[in-house]
Amino acid sequence: MAEDCLFCKIFRKEIDAKEVYRDDEIVAFEDIRPVAPTHVLIIPKAHIPSVHELTDDHAAMLAGMIRVANRIADERKIDREGYRLVLNKGPQAGQSVYHLHLHLLGGRGMGWPPG
Ligand code: 5GP
Ligand code: ZN
Repeated sequence: MAEDCLFCKIFRKEIDAKEVYRDDEIVAFEDIRPVAPTHVLIIPKAHIPSVHELTDDHAAMLAGMIRVANRIADERKIDREGYRLVLNKGPQAGQSVYHLHLHLLGGRGMGWPPG
């Protein structure tokens, strides 16, 4: 837990978010500036700054985050058309919040390579 971290505050419910999933370890909520019809952020309770700090000890947690993303994709029926899971690391990738978060994007066609 980091005192001044935006996503730690969302996990602790000190800042409002439109939650779509919660358990003891993971929360998922709507992105405040969605870039696709489905744009959900999946975060762990643990304050891990980015994907780069993940170790083998986090394997189950990371699998849990992906499981939550898959479940939300199923609920929104975007599993057949497809969806994208994104972990941005650092400024060149566009990371703006330094608490690990998995973007679930779907509901529209997406280009490749990404911008
Ligand atoms: P990043 O650019 O770090 O990969 O993604 C951070 C995401 O967090 C952005 O898509 C941004 O719109 C979202 N975001 C930033 N502040 C808030 C907030 O206060 N509430 C919610 N729900 N999303 C936020
Ligand atoms: Zn945090």
